[in-house]
Amino acid sequence: MSEHIYLNFIGGEWVASEGGETLQVHDPATSEVLHAVQASTPADVDRAVAAAREAFETTDWKENAERRATALHKLAQELARRQDHFRDFLIREAGKIFPVARSEAAMIVKTAEYYADLTRWIYGRTAQPTPNALSILVREPVGVVGIITPWNMPLALLLRPLAPALAAGCAVILKPAEQTSGITAELVKVIAEIEEIPPGIVNLVTGVGETVGAHLASHEDVDMISFTGGTETGREIVRLSAGNLKKVSLELGGKSPNIIFADADFEAAVKGALAGAAFWNAGQVCTAGTRLLVEEPIHDAFVERLRQAVPKLKVGPGTQRVHVGPVVSEEQLNRVLHYIEVGKEVAELVVGGRRLTDGELAKGYFVEPTVFDRPPLESPIAQDEIFGPVVTVIPFKDVDDAVHIANATRYGLVAAVWTQNINKAFSVAKRVRAGTVWVNAYGVLFQNVEFGGVKQSGHSRHYGLEGLYEYTHLKHIYLQLP
Ligand code: NAD
Repeated sequence: MSEHIYLNFIGGEWVASEGGETLQVHDPATSEVLHAVQASTPADVDRAVAAAREAFETTDWKENAERRATALHKLAQELARRQDHFRDFLIREAGKIFPVARSEAAMIVKTAEYYADLTRWIYGRTAQPTPNALSILVREPVGVVGIITPWNMPLALLLRPLAPALAAGCAVILKPAEQTSGITAELVKVIAEIEEIPPGIVNLVTGVGETVGAHLASHEDVDMISFTGGTETGREIVRLSAGNLKKVSLELGGKSPNIIFADADFEAAVKGALAGAAFWNAGQVCTAGTRLLVEEPIHDAFVERLRQAVPKLKVGPGTQRVHVGPVVSEEQLNRVLHYIEVGKEVAELVVGGRRLTDGELAKGYFVEPTVFDRPPLESPIAQDEIFGPVVTVIPFKDVDDAVHIANATRYGLVAAVWTQNINKAFSVAKRVRAGTVWVNAYGVLFQNVEFGGVKQSGHSRHYGLEGLYEYTHLKHIYLQLP
């Protein structure tokens, strides 16, 4: 049976790449080919950028908030209607387990709704700088925005920049990760049916990051790149964008500390550690709490609880009732297994540490949830983002030691602190360098609360009002009065 081939979406038309090449997309649970997408060329990117520019300059999209609000409300309604479709697609293409796929399919509805509501609330400011003058600050859309996304939450991380970019009045070119380009095309199909969105406002160009993504990032007629992905790729995006000094928004990797004090509610902290480790997405979550900092007096008991709990997590395809699905690709599998081997040399392996190949798992990319104890602080498993089901436990002595270890990586995405002492919680929350600090919780995110990193985890903010303002700039109009 010949596989389905997804096309690019440029200027309101579904079109094949000029180069005629395609890329195959695989099911991570079986390694079977699911479908193919266009392996686009720089010429395809040029066409998409031209279409976006034309739509941005010649339609009333950027000035018609009413039209944009209606469009985003319709998008939210259509996404709500097709939640089961997107859930099932996430299970097949991204290797998600059922509840995680279901919650991602629900999350994008909320994101579209939230920014649909905010579309009519884009206000500027006025000021009176001198007695005979009026300053009017108008919030305008940035313009043509390239949105480059990763595979680990392909819909949630697409809607997170896309909805505010559309709400602000921008035109966009979407460049999804190679592994999850099919589901992105499914989402664009929904957008293509919304008549309020003029042709050319949303374009899709799939293909290899180093070709399509890189050309988009270096394009002279793109005003902004909104990038979510790895820190090294983010660095490359900054270099590529230097030609026209376009605005760059970066949401990058993490190696987040989950800090557990001896006075914490022990069972709640164990649950928070397991959930925070993101085994539910095979560890492939930027906010994963992969460094478990545990205060010395409870360290041994805590590790013992992990030794008992982690092997009970059932690993398998997301189509079954399991706790942990596959990692996304063979490349990712090899990367994770490499880190596990390095870990075995420098730290104590508490549980896990193997690829699983029994029975029907044989052809998929399954890794046992793995816990290491006491790695050297400078070792790769304590410093690098592994992006697999692997956590490290690091003991600490007191507040100062916890803060020192928490800050001792190049990342600064999120952190959590578990304690019943509010003063200690606040002290740590203020001193840890991260974009979000949870107290007695892990991983909670809301559409109306800003999210983003510091240090090499990036510096943009998504969600909330700031997430909308990312896609605008303030113009100052000065009026000299008589
Ligand atoms: P990646 O950096 O390899 O790829 C991300 C996107 O960039 C893909 O679409 C890819 O095709 C494209 N790309 C690759 N090379 C490029 C280049 N030279 N120029 C332009 N584009 C290029 O990341 P990934 O493996 O897809 O995703 C995992 C990473 O994403 C992890 O590091 C994770 O922490 C990060 N992430 C961050 C957040 C956040 O909000 N901070 C959220 C999710 C994932």
